[in-house]
Formats: sequence, structure tokens, C-alpha cells
Amino acid sequence: MTDVDERRLREEIVEVSQAMAARGLNRGTSGNVSARLADGLLVTPSGVVPDRLTPEAIVRLDAQGRASAGALKPSSEWRMHAGLYARRPDMNAVVHCHSRHATILACARRAIPAFHYMVAVGGRTLIPLAPYRTFGTVDLAEAVADALDGGFACLMANHGQIAGAATLAKALAIAEEVEEQAAVYWGALAIGGPNVLDEAQMAEVFAQFKSYGQRA
Ligand SMILES: [Zn+2]
Repeated sequence: MTDVDERRLREEIVEVSQAMAARGLNRGTSGNVSARLADGLLVTPSGVVPDRLTPEAIVRLDAQGRASAGALKPSSEWRMHAGLYARRPDMNAVVHCHSRHATILACARRAIPAFHYMVAVGGRTLIPLAPYRTFGTVDLAEAVADALDGGFACLMANHGQIAGAATLAKALAIAEEVEEQAAVYWGALAIGGPNVLDEAQMAEVFAQFKSYGQRA
């Protein structure tokens, strides 16, 4: 990766962080965003609101999780990002947030079933729920990677949601759709509960996504 590529990724991480705030996925300093590097990752710093983020403030961590000299402190959740890059060669970008409806469901410890076909943007027939683990721990990083199980997004019990993809734009789009699905599922639960699509119906959705080239 060239310096220009790294610079571009830093800019993109700032853009995605600010987009998360602008679209209501995030409030204050709770969300974090990262991108894979050949020999580590770039991640948002701890405790900096998106409006004040600059490309220079993004923290570069090496493969052992060590920050470059003079860097800000990385997000407390950096292990979760590093854990996904270690386990998921198909992911180059990860977005984590405490978006409201995803977090409501996560606190109720409810995964999102295939109640709407767009649940498929998570890559599976449900948006699963990772078990509760203390934030910032290796345990949480492992629980999230396990829960994803080949998919691109999950809820995190009593915490929030996380999405990963090949690019930052895709990871953001998935996180945004997860929040939308969470909001609609929450609403459907409030009026008696949704009718859930069956395996065959979801298999057709995946086939359609493939033929339209829109699979996240
Ligand atoms: Zn968090």
C-alpha cells in the first residue's frame, strides 16, 4: 500500500465517521471505524467526536496492535476490528455503532429474523446476536467474529451493532440497513409481531441479489 492509498483511507474513515453521525447512527464518541492495511489497520481514535476528526488523527496500529509513535490513543474497541481482520480475509473495513434501534434489540437480546427480505444485506437469513462481553476485550472480539459466522453484520448484546465489508462504503451501507431493519422489526413487534420469510423465500432473495450484482 502506498502513502497515497493510506492517506485516502484515512480521509475515507473520517468521511464514514461523519456520515454515521449525520445519519443518526451514532451520537457523541460511541462509534468507531477501521480499515485494513497490509501490515495492520487504521482505526478512529478514542474520545474524538466525528466533527473534530481529521485524517491525521486516525490511528495506525501494526499487526500486534501497537500504535505508531505519537499517535492518539486508538478506540477502546480496536481489538474487535483487529479480530475481524484476522478471521475474515473478505473484510477490509469495519463499522461499529450504537445506533438506537439495533441497540434496543440488542438490549432485549433479540436477533433479527428474516422478517423483511433486506435482512439479506447482512449476508445471512438473519442478523444474529453476539453474546454479551465487556467492551474492549478480546472476549468480545471473539464473540463477534463467532456470531458473524460468514455474515457481514450482527447485533451485540447490551451494546450495539457491527458491520464489515470489502470497502468502507459497503460497511457503512450495511450498518445503515441493519439500523433500518432493526427499527422496522421493533415496530412490527409492537403490533403483534412480523410474519417471517421461510428459507426458500430467502434463497430466492439471495439469488436475486446475485443477479442484480447488489449483494453487499
Ligand atoms: Zn461500542
